[in-house]
Amino acid sequence: MLPILEIKDLKKHYAAKTGLFGRMSNTVKALDGISLAIEKGKTFAIVGESGSGKTTLGKTMLRLIEPTSGSIIFNGQDIMALGTESMRKLKTDMQIVFQDPFGSLDPRWTVRRTLEEPLRTHYSYSAETITKKVDEILEVVGLTPQHALRYPYELSGGQRQRVGIARALILEPQFVVFDEPVSALDVSIQAQVLTLLQDLQSRLSLTYLFISHDLSVVRYISDHVGVMYLGKMMETGPSEQLFSNPLHPYTEALISAIPQPDPDKRRERIVLSGEVPSPRNAPSGCVFHTRCPKAMPQCSSIQPEWLQVSENRYIACHLYNN
Ligand code: ADP
Ligand code: MG
Repeated sequence: MLPILEIKDLKKHYAAKTGLFGRMSNTVKALDGISLAIEKGKTFAIVGESGSGKTTLGKTMLRLIEPTSGSIIFNGQDIMALGTESMRKLKTDMQIVFQDPFGSLDPRWTVRRTLEEPLRTHYSYSAETITKKVDEILEVVGLTPQHALRYPYELSGGQRQRVGIARALILEPQFVVFDEPVSALDVSIQAQVLTLLQDLQSRLSLTYLFISHDLSVVRYISDHVGVMYLGKMMETGPSEQLFSNPLHPYTEALISAIPQPDPDKRRERIVLSGEVPSPRNAPSGCVFHTRCPKAMPQCSSIQPEWLQVSENRYIACHLYNN
């Protein structure tokens, strides 16, 4: 496997004031020792409930947030060692698309201005070249030069997300993080945008990190999956294997909850007890032990190691620790 991006033991800890008058201080471990490798030209999906650290992971990988520790290797280069200028250049290669295109597009700007801006920031192209590049990227994402005259409020949700995608792709990146890119869209529009993303990936040889809390979407789009819970990676593996044979009890529970129209394929639904604990007060040992149907005595005190269980599969769970 040829990884385009590899992260090792990545951590992002925040100091959080708690208690009366904020006199106590706790650490929120938004990311707590995440390691993974993303193969060139493929889609690595991150799933997990709200608050598990998915957005922090996506942003930290691109150094939009500085990690507390750990390494990020992009095309063989340790990007944590890069200075401001090299990082600025590299940022054209790594882009991000957010969930809410309304929130991430400037309401006062036409689509053309929005798409011109990254080109102006990073290059000194002529006005003619900029116009041509904008027209080209509009076509790539299935919009027309007419759309370029509009403001965000004049577009549908699907069209706005196409603009968000166009803005990320206009700098011709190699790697794109999509943070819940279709979660705000109607189901019928979701399918169109997902098809567009797949089409763009093969046409432009892009590598994706695809963040979602929706496992049906992830199953559809991913080559590889990582399952997060409270800042920890529970399990990673090729999607086919992970969906047909989940190893971690948390993955098993998430997959059992996917609606399955075919009764023969239906799994018995595993209902997890309780709520996700507060990240300010993450459980000791395995962070999942308070809700795990298979918890054993050591799970509440000893953190499971990150283990390789087969060629492409890794897991953090005491069930596999020997
Ligand atoms: P997700 O995208 O999976 O919903 P996030 O990455 O947004 O999760 O957040 C992970 C955890 O980190 C949450 O508990 C969140 O409250 C906390 N967190 C995120 N950003 C900050 C911040 N700037 N300061 C303190 N805590 C933060
Ligand atoms: Mg998020």
